[in-house]
Amino acid sequence: MRLVLALQAGMLRYRAKNLFLALERRVNRSRLARKKEKGSRGSSLSGFLAYHSICRKERIPACLQGEVVREADFSAQLDQLLQSGFRFLSLEEWMSRLQPPRTVVLTFDDGYSGIFHQVFPLLERYRIPATIFLTTGFLNNQVRPPWDSPSRELQRAFHRTSSLWQPLQWGQVREMATTGRIEFGSHGCSHRRLGRLPAAEVKRELLLSREEIERQTGRPVRTFSYPFGVGRYGAYRSDLEKELREAGYMAACTGEEGRPAAQTNPFFLPRFPVRLGDTGTDLEGRLAGLSDWTSRCQHIFHRLFTGSHGD
Ligand SMILES: [Zn+2]
Repeated sequence: MRLVLALQAGMLRYRAKNLFLALERRVNRSRLARKKEKGSRGSSLSGFLAYHSICRKERIPACLQGEVVREADFSAQLDQLLQSGFRFLSLEEWMSRLQPPRTVVLTFDDGYSGIFHQVFPLLERYRIPATIFLTTGFLNNQVRPPWDSPSRELQRAFHRTSSLWQPLQWGQVREMATTGRIEFGSHGCSHRRLGRLPAAEVKRELLLSREEIERQTGRPVRTFSYPFGVGRYGAYRSDLEKELREAGYMAACTGEEGRPAAQTNPFFLPRFPVRLGDTGTDLEGRLAGLSDWTSRCQHIFHRLFTGSHGD
């Protein structure tokens, strides 16, 4: 009985989320169209996009639709953002300028092999930089998604689509690093929730992952992305800024939805997750601030479905 209820709660959660996102897209597309009719470009806006895995034509279960983007959609998103006058920067480049206008930072979490086969060629073609956050234990085949999730639904879904969740090889990481356009950051060693770990474990996660990526790429690692991303799920605590600074980092991304403001702490940068079916228009709308209201809904959603996976 308990299992049935848990399964229903899981399915209800993903259905509710996908329905809400469909509504958000519809509202924002019409708001962006009206904004463009008026000739407003929102030139001072910038933000971060968070991707995970890239797929071709596979069927994606409802519970993974926040983690996968189709290759053709990704290509169309880049096209549209370029046409709309957005500039792409890596996270370190973004940090070195004062709130650059109309810029996008592409970020990829975990380190899936599709980044090398499907994303990297496109980034090379357009000469676009990106920041890839690697979980070193994932690349070393010690941990794998769905990480510590006890959800059988998630475990089955990841298993059914296992080709999308294979890790990058270190040789591929080195090849991407040589271009100078792809920046590598850390996503920890073991993809655990840093907000719930003792201080010594946090230090170990921050330092060992940084050292290994630096050893492999020969480049300094200065940026971090919190596994699970959301503070309510224990992904981070406010005192982690000190730990990150001491471990040599200059910035860190969360999974909280929103745009960075002038006063945003660079160790807790919000991002917009990119989901299956998002178009360039949807991303442009979010970067233009049209979905700022959804970050408030995100808090309510996480309160309603607390204890879930944290995507
Ligand atoms: Zn992750």
